[in-house]
Amino acid sequence: MTTRTKMKKRSINKNSSSIEIEDKDKTLKKVVTHTTSTKRKLYTWHEIPDWQKDNEYIHGGYVKETNSFTECINSLFYIHNETVNIYSHLIPGLISLGLVTIDKYCVPKFNTTTMTDYLFIDLFFVGAFACLTMSSTFHCLKSHSPGVAKFGNKLDYLGIVVLISTSMVSILYYGFYDNSFMFYLFSGITLMFGTACAIVSLDEKFRAREWRAYRAAMFVMFGLSAFLPIGAGLIYYGSHETWTRVQLKWIILEGLFYIFGAFLYGGRLPEKYCPGHYDIWGHSHQIFHVLVVVAALCHLMGLIESYRYVHTYMIPLMMQA
Ligand SMILES: [Zn+2]
Repeated sequence: MTTRTKMKKRSINKNSSSIEIEDKDKTLKKVVTHTTSTKRKLYTWHEIPDWQKDNEYIHGGYVKETNSFTECINSLFYIHNETVNIYSHLIPGLISLGLVTIDKYCVPKFNTTTMTDYLFIDLFFVGAFACLTMSSTFHCLKSHSPGVAKFGNKLDYLGIVVLISTSMVSILYYGFYDNSFMFYLFSGITLMFGTACAIVSLDEKFRAREWRAYRAAMFVMFGLSAFLPIGAGLIYYGSHETWTRVQLKWIILEGLFYIFGAFLYGGRLPEKYCPGHYDIWGHSHQIFHVLVVVAALCHLMGLIESYRYVHTYMIPLMMQA
């Protein structure tokens, strides 16, 4: 073997070892990337920071503090203990907004239907949209940081206040269609209770864990304030007329769903009796969310029936008089 051939062979060996190193580098890079993309996304109660600890009966499925809005948005694409809370309100919230844009096609039309009718029915849809989307936004971003979680939680409660207020004002419009004084009086009372609930939700003092049951009770009282106009209706119009005007069967059902939801939420049922079993599916907050949507649907049924009653019976009678 000549010296030249030896040098060539050495150079080939050198090249092949550099290719080997390059290959090893690539493999290492691949391993690192793979590890990053498949890093653990869910954590247990003991692994999350204290500020994220809210319900000790939920043991796992947590998205740990992300400090990144991108990470929070990414959490929409895998299952964790907030997934049901996010989607149970996001989907019906977007549907509510969609209904505002097609109200003329989905609300039954009468010769006497006016823009004001659409305004009051849309008021309910907008309230539902605001409540449900604020809630799902909160549940999506609550793993970001203490500051974002706290702000989002306030919006969550505010959303419920907005939904109850808009629900009540919309049905009061039809219930007291021929009595503007009663309409303004009870709408004012509704807004007053709504403001009180908003304060309880936004004020730092009432947001502490030990006030949970009281906060829930305040919301129940807000819901129960619906009985004031019903009582006035019973005295003023009698039971049969009141029952038909505001479609009481739907409103009573709505109230029952809200109360039952608040009861489960306040009592942390069912997870309290089977800790760790309802982490991903079926814990109290998720049931509460679903019941809020069911209650809103009951309200919509009552509202549409009440609107139908006004245009079928009341307006023709008023025109005859
Ligand atoms: Zn919620």
